[in-house]
Amino acid sequence: MKKIDELPENVGRIVIAGHIHPDGDCVGSCLGLKNYLSVIRPRAQVDIYLEKFSEDFGFLQGAGEVCHELPEREPYDVAFALDCSDTERLGDAVKYFTAAKRRICIDHHITNEGFSDENIICPDASSTCEVLYSLMEDSFVNRAVAECLYTGIVHDTGVFKHSNTKEETMRIAGRLITKGADPSYIIDETFYKKTFAQNKALARALDTAELWLDGAVIGSVITEKDFEELGIGSGDLDGIVDQLRVTDGVEAAVFLYEAPEGKCKVSMRANGSVDVSRIAREFGGGGHVKAAGCTVSGGWREIIDQIAGRIAEQLEH
Ligand code: AMP
Ligand code: MN
Ligand code: MN
Repeated sequence: MKKIDELPENVGRIVIAGHIHPDGDCVGSCLGLKNYLSVIRPRAQVDIYLEKFSEDFGFLQGAGEVCHELPEREPYDVAFALDCSDTERLGDAVKYFTAAKRRICIDHHITNEGFSDENIICPDASSTCEVLYSLMEDSFVNRAVAECLYTGIVHDTGVFKHSNTKEETMRIAGRLITKGADPSYIIDETFYKKTFAQNKALARALDTAELWLDGAVIGSVITEKDFEELGIGSGDLDGIVDQLRVTDGVEAAVFLYEAPEGKCKVSMRANGSVDVSRIAREFGGGGHVKAAGCTVSGGWREIIDQIAGRIAEQLEH
């Protein structure tokens, strides 16, 4: 498939799924594709399955119709997996994906090995939303589609500041503004705005952060006790690892939080020569060269030790 418009005119039932713990690129790409399909294939039935996501994305068209429950369904004619590097990350929606008659994955993770029948994977693209725009006919991109895609690009580029931001990213973003996306609303309301509790969590993580490997790595942990004391949930920790990363002199930032069932969620960011996608993959996760993550069983101290060891190995070479 080179363009979404190649879908058959009479396509019947379509399902769209993204990764667990949906972020801006995941929500933006799923809703952006649905809104585009409602323009080019208005008779098709399109269902989106995602875990619950931030209410900040509630203004995007169709956000209220996303399904969070997964009843038994007849196999779909076409399934899209968006912003998702492996089937495990599809969560429970994997059952619809596996059963579908035609399966298409659109993604930008370098660790995506092509789990679908049809794979459109562009590791150089800033975001799945950027890949998706390149598969769309510009004349059919309306304001609703533009708002979704712009949101995804903003989130995965950290508001156009990460090294994945290219000339093409800015060209597409500019085009989406012309189509009606409101940059300052989307950037402030969905990216920078923090609740009081989220700011307290950031403060805790910065206050307890430590430097390792002679200042080459910064790390911090939010424990179950912190969750309780601060009255926060795992959804309140976005952006912490990015703030750690901008510390002067660090090559990599590692942020962990204690998750259920004796596991820790690890987020990693790199500045220079470290490839954090390699480390994440080794621990069963994935991502990009400069931004990656994994969920690991065990206590945070031992996990930190192991990850710091892997970073040290890379820095030695
Ligand atoms: P995060 O640290 O959660 O912000 O994730 C950084 C990047 O790594 C994102 O592109 C995620 O999609 C990806 N990522 C995070 N956790 C995992 C995981 N467990 N498996 C695969 N990819 C992941
Ligand atoms: Mn994502
Ligand atoms: Mn993405």
